[in-house]
Amino acid sequence: MSSRLAPVVRRVADLRAAVARWRAAGETIGLVPTMGALHDGHLALVRAARDDNAHVVGTLFVNPTQFGPNEDLSAYPRDEAADLAAFTEAGADLVFAPGVAEMYAPDAATTVTVARLTDHLCGPHRPGHFDGVATVVAKLLNQARADAAYFGEKDWQQLQVIRRLGADLDIDTRIVGVATVRDADGLALSSRNRYMTVEQRRIALALPRGLRDLAARVADGRPVAPEAAALQDALAAAGFDKVDYVAVCDGDALQPLDRVSTPARARVFAAAWIGRTRLIDNMAVGA
Ligand code: AMP
Repeated sequence: MSSRLAPVVRRVADLRAAVARWRAAGETIGLVPTMGALHDGHLALVRAARDDNAHVVGTLFVNPTQFGPNEDLSAYPRDEAADLAAFTEAGADLVFAPGVAEMYAPDAATTVTVARLTDHLCGPHRPGHFDGVATVVAKLLNQARADAAYFGEKDWQQLQVIRRLGADLDIDTRIVGVATVRDADGLALSSRNRYMTVEQRRIALALPRGLRDLAARVADGRPVAPEAAALQDALAAAGFDKVDYVAVCDGDALQPLDRVSTPARARVFAAAWIGRTRLIDNMAVGA
């Protein structure tokens, strides 16, 4: 069984050597960065990468710099053997799983900050988070030099941040967004869903349902504020312990909208807590 698993490399030099061999043969490479605890959402990224490229590199790295001091870094689910099997099954042919010391020199002094796109939504609620994400993704893109890299629309703000840093830093890797994968009842798949009890999982459903409803209600251009406030109240009533935000934003610029004038450009967003689990989701307003 283990002989069929995709090989794992832990050093940047070994990743680069493998990619260089493929590139010398004229073969394309797709990169799928993850923090592991893989589920079907991650595997949809692998399949998209597989469809577009001759080779797929999956990465497993729980990046400490994107977790705040009171966040779930030490509790974050880790199961490399299961992740390796899932990556292999979905079609990855190499897995890059570096340790923290390989990614960050003790005297590292560079941080990538993406302005404006991080002013709203999760930015103010998770200070430093997007700096951590932008820095590690810039590093992974430079390390792998893939033709394309695949990220989920589930983390829409993250996806826009990554598109921006790729353009601003002249990184020659196409950034591809992949539609959110949901359970049959509509809850977006997330590695953090496994923290929830059955009861909490039931409460969580109010998030996608409420966002779908909000998207339909604001599409006609009525004021957003009362509709967003109503969803905030509905989430609390459903059993969410805290709502970080409910917002309607331009999907590209991520600036809040008072009213939706172009439904095709607008998206609804929310982040809320059930116990110690923070859930986020987003949806298009116009199809
Ligand atoms: P993570 O391991 O949570 O950092 O996620 C790694 C990648 O998988 C990111 O690009 C996420 O946006 C993406 N992802 C996570 N959940 C989903 C989902 N339910 N559908 C699609 N992509 C997802």
